[in-house]
Amino acid sequence: MSKLFQNYKRAAIEFVKAEGSYLFDADGKKYLDFSSGIGVTNLGFHPQVKAALQAQADRIWHTPNLYQNSLQEEVAEKLIGDRDYLAFFCNSGAEANEAAIKIARKATGKQEIITFKDSFHGRTFGSMSATGQDKIKEGFGDGVPHFLYADYNDLSSVKSLASERTAAVMLELVQGESGIHPAEADFVTGLAAFCQDKNILLIVDEVQTGMGRTGKLYSFEHYGIEPDIFTLAKGLANGVPVGAMLGKTKLSAAFGYGSHGSTFGGNKLAMAAASAGLTILKEDGFLETALAKGNYLQDQLKTMLADNPKVTQVRGLGCMIGIETSADLGQLVASARAKGLIVLTAGSNVIRLLPPLTLTKDELDQGLAILQEVFA
Ligand SMILES: *Cc1c(COP(=O)(O)O)cnc(C)c1O
Repeated sequence: MSKLFQNYKRAAIEFVKAEGSYLFDADGKKYLDFSSGIGVTNLGFHPQVKAALQAQADRIWHTPNLYQNSLQEEVAEKLIGDRDYLAFFCNSGAEANEAAIKIARKATGKQEIITFKDSFHGRTFGSMSATGQDKIKEGFGDGVPHFLYADYNDLSSVKSLASERTAAVMLELVQGESGIHPAEADFVTGLAAFCQDKNILLIVDEVQTGMGRTGKLYSFEHYGIEPDIFTLAKGLANGVPVGAMLGKTKLSAAFGYGSHGSTFGGNKLAMAAASAGLTILKEDGFLETALAKGNYLQDQLKTMLADNPKVTQVRGLGCMIGIETSADLGQLVASARAKGLIVLTAGSNVIRLLPPLTLTKDELDQGLAILQEVFA
């Protein structure tokens, strides 16, 4: 009998080794990974990330945030580039969103935050309360107050909830966990303009969409906007636990000495992995190629599944793709796995693909061939 809480539904296999886009189970069976963990190992199991981790482990793997940390500075510079942000590092997506909620409240002196129905922002009390899905909150009692839930892709719904009390609006630009729902361009630009006009902070949760997942470093680049605050985690250190909250420099007073912190946040191993990963993401043409791969995958799936009566829609952005289907998700996932392909689900009726951005054309076509058989 397992000594673990049974809060996860685990498949009956264990991955014990990985290389590039492939995972190996204890019997030596090889699987092509179209999940990247859950959008975490965005560069696959990359030799440069591994080398950076090994080299950092040889030097020092932890110092507290009471001392200088040049690796944090280095990662912040790579994340920010020419933009006008400051970074705070923590250990997970939920924590990054906690930091975003806290800085937004403190900087504005207001408490209300508008989020969206079917959103997902994490499992801590703050981020769970921000989440617009009742099933995530069931049985846990009162959440953090002052969250309001608007309809996604509906600016009038945001306007009807906004008031003098609104500190911020917070959203994913592609809702991930609830089924790969991309935001519409008009909605996002309208929302950004509305927030600016009303002095409401705009927070973009890039925990799943960030780090090249959508074919840009950050998904907000697709929409031509710049949020006041955005959060990162999943793909940031390619599998080492980490999170980050980036906020415009104008918010710095709200996070002064002693205001917020994290024991492990910005740990040296996480920062070494993140820095190595960012070097790869920033190579000339890398993100453009990742976007082209995502577009190819989505186009091929659309063609391949066009006449499939059990597939209602293929949608997504970059390498974040959902296949909406009336077929049994558990069976589809198991069937893909039996054929050597790892895929995810999202919401109640979507097969979610989050392949490594480093996939080769051959690997893409292998995965497509397996998906064709699985959906046949
Ligand atoms: C996964 C996810 C989170 C939560 O991240 P954790 O690291 O599990 O806390 C928050 N927001 C979004 C959009 C996510 O996809």
